[in-house]
Amino acid sequence: MTDKRIFNFNAGPAALPIQVLEEIQSFFLNFDQSGMSITEISHRSSYFDNVINDAVQRAKRLLKLDDRFHVLFLQGGASLQFAMIPMNFLSKDDTADYINTGTWSTKAIKEAQIQKKNYTIVASSEDKDFSYIPKNIQFSKDAGYVHMTSNNTIKGTQFHEFPDTNGVPIICDMSSDIFSRPLDMEKFGLIYAGAQKNLGPSGTCIVIIRQDMLDMAKEDLPSMLKYSTYASKNSMYNTPSCFGIYTIDLVLKWIEEEMGGIEKMEEYNIKKADLLYDFIDSSSFYRTTAQKYSRSLMNVTFRLPGEDLEKQFVVEATENGFGGLKGHRSVGGCRASIYNAATMESIKALVQFMESFEKENK
Ligand SMILES: *Cc1c(COP(=O)(O)O)cnc(C)c1O
Repeated sequence: MTDKRIFNFNAGPAALPIQVLEEIQSFFLNFDQSGMSITEISHRSSYFDNVINDAVQRAKRLLKLDDRFHVLFLQGGASLQFAMIPMNFLSKDDTADYINTGTWSTKAIKEAQIQKKNYTIVASSEDKDFSYIPKNIQFSKDAGYVHMTSNNTIKGTQFHEFPDTNGVPIICDMSSDIFSRPLDMEKFGLIYAGAQKNLGPSGTCIVIIRQDMLDMAKEDLPSMLKYSTYASKNSMYNTPSCFGIYTIDLVLKWIEEEMGGIEKMEEYNIKKADLLYDFIDSSSFYRTTAQKYSRSLMNVTFRLPGEDLEKQFVVEATENGFGGLKGHRSVGGCRASIYNAATMESIKALVQFMESFEKENK
């Protein structure tokens, strides 16, 4: 227990910028001089219209999206997208390509399988416990889309370049690295991300979809499972997650106005990750689990010389004010999630702690 804020390295829900939390706090009882909290206002009010429109416009500016792209907010997390994607884009005779780079990709594939859709796994790194990003992938000629996960939150790997798919639109799960770097949007037909890693609280999923994908999406589906429902109603066919969208708007504002935009955000993310990886590489005590060219700038997965030491490391880290360093329960080891909101200060403090832990336990 502590009455101070910790250095939070949680994988998700994850740390948010302190400036955003403070802004939420200062306007929590009276939002935009409405006399109400953001959690109390109508989603049909002009107050909320301003919020959602601002969030959409900021997302478009940051990613340099042209008019073909719609920015939508859905519920059901990234996991609902795993199911909605094959549901909306694959009819009986269609097929899709999937790249399998970890737990989340595997779950996305499973949802296509449950619906008995046609798909091909064109590349997988399962042979080496998902510790690398596959290269030189051969795509099918007739695929409707290529599905991939840009950053593998659990395994600590990341695509640093997106593959050339011969014009087949990429559908990408960017839950754990959206808005961490600029994107060449020509490649993408749809990108999606659960908000709780890099963008806001849990409960909201951002979907960015290109008009031609929307035109291809199936219409004979339940309203809440069709992209067109959200696109035609500015994400307000039913009551959206107002607080979630509001927080996302503040985080996007923070990237634009405090961090200086997405290129600057990327530079900062590279500096932060380099600091941690350089330290681990220089140590004979810690080692990373991902192959060097595949290492994630967002989730740094690492091991210590033994499982008992790893347990002790997490306990002592907690005592010293560092949270979230335990690896995912499915893989063990340790993980520091250093999304956009992680500060250089927190990483310097972590490196210092890791140095002294190494000295005492070598
Ligand atoms: C966390 C995560 C998910 C799951 O997100 P939910 O919003 O909980 O459904 C999916 N994909 C990736 C890459 C993630 O990091």
